[in-house]
Amino acid sequence: MYPPTFDYYRAGSVDEAVALMGQHGGKFIAGGHSLLPVMKMRLSDPGVLIDIGRIDGLRGITKSGNSFRIGALTTHATVAAEGDRHFPDALKHAAGMIGDPQVRNRGTVGGNVAHADPASDLPTVFLALGATFHIAGPNGARSVAAANFFTGLFETALGENEVLTAVEVPAEGTENGSAYAKLFNPASRYAMVGACANITVSLTGECTACSVAVGGLTPKAMAAPSVGASLVGKRLTDDNIAAAAALILNDLGGDVMGDIHASADYRRQMAPVFVGRALTLAGHRAGWVARLQKNVKDVTADVLDEIERRLRK
Ligand SMILES: Cc1cc2nc3c(=O)[nH]c(=O)nc-3n(C[C@H](O)[C@H](O)[C@H](O)COP(=O)(O)OP(=O)(O)OC[C@H]3O[C@@H](n4cnc5c(N)ncnc54)[C@H](O)[C@@H]3O)c2cc1C
Repeated sequence: MYPPTFDYYRAGSVDEAVALMGQHGGKFIAGGHSLLPVMKMRLSDPGVLIDIGRIDGLRGITKSGNSFRIGALTTHATVAAEGDRHFPDALKHAAGMIGDPQVRNRGTVGGNVAHADPASDLPTVFLALGATFHIAGPNGARSVAAANFFTGLFETALGENEVLTAVEVPAEGTENGSAYAKLFNPASRYAMVGACANITVSLTGECTACSVAVGGLTPKAMAAPSVGASLVGKRLTDDNIAAAAALILNDLGGDVMGDIHASADYRRQMAPVFVGRALTLAGHRAGWVARLQKNVKDVTADVLDEIERRLRK
């Protein structure tokens, strides 16, 4: 399959990208792993492509203070390989579950969220983590919270001529744990159901904050406030997690989509299962014992048991 013909311009900086878009219109292209397929299927015919893929300043992950800034051109493979122990586990693992090695080596974080495919993984994760999106455009720079960034099916808050420059996520402390679980399409690995949980626990094991989001089910990734709220103040027992996960059906309402891969009814039935898995895994990661095990390599199981016994007295 061949895409329709197009004019091509390569931008050397964000300012130049914004100016070229103002002059010629069309679409930005980064990794091309969402845009080129839709052009080849003749679902998109932008006429002009502005290549932002070689703007160096938009690449890489930097930590500053209590957050990580992920440049829009950072590939999924780079995110999946991030080694900082405070980097959110859900994001690292979700990036590693995207497509196949080719897709992860070419596809970018910015392209993934700007495209806003309802079956993409990263919008769900960024919603649950409370990410902030940094944008540059003809009127300067601005920032948008994840809760306001995804506005509909393949729609975002990005305005005309605006470039997404980075996504910022909070660093994970010892009391936080996050996880992503997905029921994937066996051919493409896109999410038929994707669930992300971001949990904070107290030293004594009660959940003090819980944020959950789901994707693949509705026209855009969505937060699941009833699920998160129902766990606050409780211990993360199997029963409490199962009861919380069942509430996803209230949050979803009647807006669940079906397609040739899975009916709406099947997705609805799978939603509590995958929300439950994300909550369970995030809960394990949020436990301080698990954190110690991850962070302090030479602590033996006996020492951990003893510390836990004394703390819980
Ligand atoms: C076979 C296959 C399997 C896949 N499986 C998965 C999967 O399992 N999970 C998943 O989440 N994704 C999956 N993807 C999608 C993949 O993650 C893409 O990399 C990603 O969706 C788009 O990133 P890109 O850099 O290729 O963007 P492009 O294709 O270059 O651009 C996509 C859209 O975003 C816009 N855009 C790109 N960057 C910017 C920017 N910085 N600012 C403003 N607009 C921008 C473009 O104008 C275009 O409209 C798959 C793709 C393929 C081909």
